[in-house]
Amino acid sequence: MPTTDTLVIRNPADGAELARIPVTAASEVAWHTADALEVHRSGVWSSAPPRARAAALLRLADLMQRDAETLARLDSEDAGKPITECRENDVPGAIESIRWFAEALDKQYGRVSTTSSDVLAFTEREPFGVVAAILPWNYPLAMACWKLGPALAVGNALILKPADATPRSTLHLAALAEEAGIPPGVLRVLPGTGAETGAALAADPIVEAISFTGSTTTGRKILTAAAATNLKRVSLELGGKSPQVLMADALAFGDHLIDGLIEAAFLTAGQNCTAGSRILVHESIHDEIVDRLSRAAAELTVGDPSDAATQIGPVIDAVAADRILGAIDTAVADGARIATGGVEVPVVQGGRYIAPTVLTELPANAEVLRTEIFGPVVTVQRFGTRDEAIALANAVDYGLAASVWTKDIDDALAVARGIRAGLVSVGTYSEGDMTVPFGGWRQSGFGGAEKSLQAFAQWSREKAIWVQS
Ligand code: ADP
Repeated sequence: MPTTDTLVIRNPADGAELARIPVTAASEVAWHTADALEVHRSGVWSSAPPRARAAALLRLADLMQRDAETLARLDSEDAGKPITECRENDVPGAIESIRWFAEALDKQYGRVSTTSSDVLAFTEREPFGVVAAILPWNYPLAMACWKLGPALAVGNALILKPADATPRSTLHLAALAEEAGIPPGVLRVLPGTGAETGAALAADPIVEAISFTGSTTTGRKILTAAAATNLKRVSLELGGKSPQVLMADALAFGDHLIDGLIEAAFLTAGQNCTAGSRILVHESIHDEIVDRLSRAAAELTVGDPSDAATQIGPVIDAVAADRILGAIDTAVADGARIATGGVEVPVVQGGRYIAPTVLTELPANAEVLRTEIFGPVVTVQRFGTRDEAIALANAVDYGLAASVWTKDIDDALAVARGIRAGLVSVGTYSEGDMTVPFGGWRQSGFGGAEKSLQAFAQWSREKAIWVQS
């Protein structure tokens, strides 16, 4: 039965309605996966020469470049992200990822095993067939492209389920893919809710691999659905509570340090799985860091995301705003001091804007130190020794990203190696470029890296072939 439900897309900046988009019902999901399987088996994409697939993906990247301003505006409006962030970071990054995967796809080689002279044993990678990705709302286009690039490059038929609030850039991407000559049916975008469309994909028996970026709670549901049905491969990119460790000499980085701390904590209003939301500072520089960080946070421009000067836009919706403000209240009740922020900022009627917030003097058992806030809130804690810093860094269930700020090579390596997380940067806070694998540990996820050559492995499976003569 086709659904009559619709997603009402609203601009988080002011609550204005932007679009109404039909929800893809579970029965329609089943139709699409069956149809996608036929397209895959036809070989129109899966058997196309790798150079032809690469050429189509490069054309897609060119078309995204042509429509870059439209794509930036769609993400800014749907997600409430500052337009400058979309123009300078998200959209160029998304285009770059498609180009990178297109260029890399035919530059990989298989493996031949060492065997006897009458045997040839080798491995090949094959696409799964029909695969799916369930996307978050904080980087709608970029996450679509991190998954689309390698999934299509290796020859799968891909279904994208954008987040409920942010489907429009993904729909535009699908139109560009068609214009680029990617055969019809190879890429489908099925907008809908998580409970209906997302859950149907996670449980679908035809979908053989699913990649998810979002909350740890939803990741568990997807893993459970996959386990209960066809044991599809699951890759999870989940939440985080990422530490930034400032050793005693960190001030030697000058303004770069404060800029890095601010960007790590407050990019996309802190609604970022890699947000560096826990600052751990050597006690000798604690007060100076709190002072400089608070002043820099207070200077950030909170405003309408369509304004190019805005650095902090609204949070995604009222539920998120209430949750974030509630977490700040709980922290204060636990004994925290608000060094700056902690309040809503009246920017535009209908939007919910929260001032960049720095919390200090937290007792070790404060809830805010363990729970992902997903908002513009950063905590500062002191440590005395390197071992204490590592212990604090690891005192959460997550393990996505981290940074270490020191010029001492021994400290840098000891902390980087001591932190249980998938990505640690030193003297900066960065995910690195497309060559760097991205993926969390522990409750931040598993199932293979995104970006880098390793992403191809996430979207394909290895077959060993043994030939005896
Ligand atoms: P948030 O709570 O911020 O919306 P989620 O992790 O729940 O974050 O959402 C990320 C994506 O997961 C969205 O595309 C959403 O529709 C989808 N989703 C939510 N619940 C489910 C579910 N039970 N099964 C599959 N996908 C889901």
